[in-house]
Amino acid sequence: MRLRRGLRVLRTGDDEVQIGTDPRWSVRLHGLTATQCRAVLRGTERPLRPALPEPVLIELDRLGLLRAPVLRTTPMPDRLVPDVLATALVGDGDLREVRERRAAATVTVGGLGRTGILIATTLAGAGVGTVLLDDRRRVLDADVGTGLSPADVGHRRQTAAAQLLRTVAPGVRTGSTDRWGNAPTVVVTVSADAADPEQGLRLMSAGLPWLPVVLREADALIGPLSVPGGPSCQRCVELARADRDPQWPRVLGLLCSGDRVAAEPVVLAAVAGGLAAAEVLRVVDGGRPMTAGRQYEVPMPSVEPRLRVWAAHPECGCAALPTSDGKVAD
Ligand SMILES: [Zn+2]
Repeated sequence: MRLRRGLRVLRTGDDEVQIGTDPRWSVRLHGLTATQCRAVLRGTERPLRPALPEPVLIELDRLGLLRAPVLRTTPMPDRLVPDVLATALVGDGDLREVRERRAAATVTVGGLGRTGILIATTLAGAGVGTVLLDDRRRVLDADVGTGLSPADVGHRRQTAAAQLLRTVAPGVRTGSTDRWGNAPTVVVTVSADAADPEQGLRLMSAGLPWLPVVLREADALIGPLSVPGGPSCQRCVELARADRDPQWPRVLGLLCSGDRVAAEPVVLAAVAGGLAAAEVLRVVDGGRPMTAGRQYEVPMPSVEPRLRVWAAHPECGCAALPTSDGKVAD
């Protein structure tokens, strides 16, 4: 048995070693011999047996700090190692599983202003194998700042974005349409003022998980992650708003008409884009997303995210739809 990769190991005294720095699992071992200290310090690469006694190994295993030896190292570029190590450490599978799940994933990002660009580059940089890009509008000067450069101004957003992705993540498959026959694992849309209900309906009907990201005048909304089977969806949000404000459907129609360009302050794009990318990776990694039945609200100027719960609306019916694995939700 060895220590899990990615753990920091520190010699904190003559007979003492600390394993890990994250308080969720860090532990300090006391009363060790010099040989045992050396064994723990090299424990991510070499076996801890026979240096450490069995009760200590059992306790380390109980804390989730040990891994079985692997026959060969999972091949991956160095640039992916931090993401894969940290994801495996927080319990979303071993290194190989994390790497392979991400490489097999396809994510569509629609709306490629500052926020969409940040989401797409973050996902490609984190090892998502295919990132599809959907935005035929031209790059504006106001889109520069989270990856695009002034030289991209005037080019199609999806073309400029694809070029950027291939630069930051060589090997990523990208394009405006799926040429590889994979249904998206998640579809992210970034839009100004409101999420398009018709687009949401199309995605839900197709059984595709949809993460709407909306930039309003000085805040951003991320989620709810809308999937058949609930717990709730973007339509539930709009129906609840209409319950409180009878004029809301009319306002929503006005907000969704015409070609809308979001105002995206860089810091808001960075935080909202990072949160949205993290949500996509939770889905890809098989974890429970924070925006299942909830929505991040990120207001300027603090950009401190708040989570708002949205219950399933009785008129929506999304919660009663079969889930993507064919089961009906509880
Ligand atoms: Zn719903």
